Amino acid sequence: MIDTDNDEEDILEECAVCGGDIIIDSFCEEDDIVYCNDCEAEYLIRSLDPIRLKLFDDEIDTDPDDADDEDYD
Ligand SMILES: [Zn+2]
Repeated sequence: MIDTDNDEEDILEECAVCGGDIIIDSFCEEDDIVYCNDCEAEYLIRSLDPIRLKLFDDEIDTDPDDADDEDYD
């Protein structure tokens, strides 16, 4: 087992809602959901390199013009 230095690289992102910490640990993958430590807002990981988070909140995506983008398999 070789896990010397690339083991637990937690990344801290700032919550867009409250400015708190969002911990993205080494197990997270793209399209995972992470949570703000402070306000528990949900974020979807759009990309890991670089880190891009999208606030995952159904109430925000109710714009009729954007409805076509919500295309889940
Ligand atoms: Zn927050």
